Amino acid sequence: MILYVATKNRYKLQEINNILKSVNIEAQAYPNLPDIDETGSTFEENASIKADYLSSKLKDQLVIADDSGIEVIALNNAPGIYSARYSGIHGDDKANNQKLLNDMQNISDRRCRFVCAISLSKNGSTIKTFHGTVEGTVAYKEDGNNGFGYDPIFILPSGQYMSMLSDSEKNSISHRYKALQQLKKFLHNYSI
Ligand code: IMP
Repeated sequence: MILYVATKNRYKLQEINNILKSVNIEAQAYPNLPDIDETGSTFEENASIKADYLSSKLKDQLVIADDSGIEVIALNNAPGIYSARYSGIHGDDKANNQKLLNDMQNISDRRCRFVCAISLSKNGSTIKTFHGTVEGTVAYKEDGNNGFGYDPIFILPSGQYMSMLSDSEKNSISHRYKALQQLKKFLHNYSI
């Protein structure tokens, strides 16, 4: 089965494919996807906006979109849906991490979570949205070489940074993995 993915983020696409390959689902990016305005106020709304948009262009095809980010408890859940553009420059991971480290400089409550919403759409409307979270704490400085985004400053309860996990380790515990597990179950049980 082919699922089109409304994303330009090659790391997300790779993670999604690694997680779905065990059930013979191939996630394909749509070439030349235009920038889609994320005008929602929640991860769920933004995932749905992206999936609905692409599925309205691909008649009868199943489309998914992921909207994800990091919520920091002491910052009232910021950056949240603004995670990709927290520093002001969309997709600048280094600058986003630096801003978050600066904002957290004098804060001892470092609890945070990664959040992921994945919407499944067809012919311009959302069939269902799936969710996943993973809890952790914000580090005091970057470490680790794997992953992307906020992984180098995200510490898991085990003490390991997300960026220290191998791809397959991250893909067996992550927020994206948890949301995709539910999507897999849904696709298995329902014929759409
Ligand atoms: P989106 O593309 O609008 O969903 O933005 C997602 C942003 O959240 C990314 O640019 C990353 O900064 C962050 N993010 C989402 N998932 C992860 C992850 O698995 N690890 C680290 N950062 C993530």
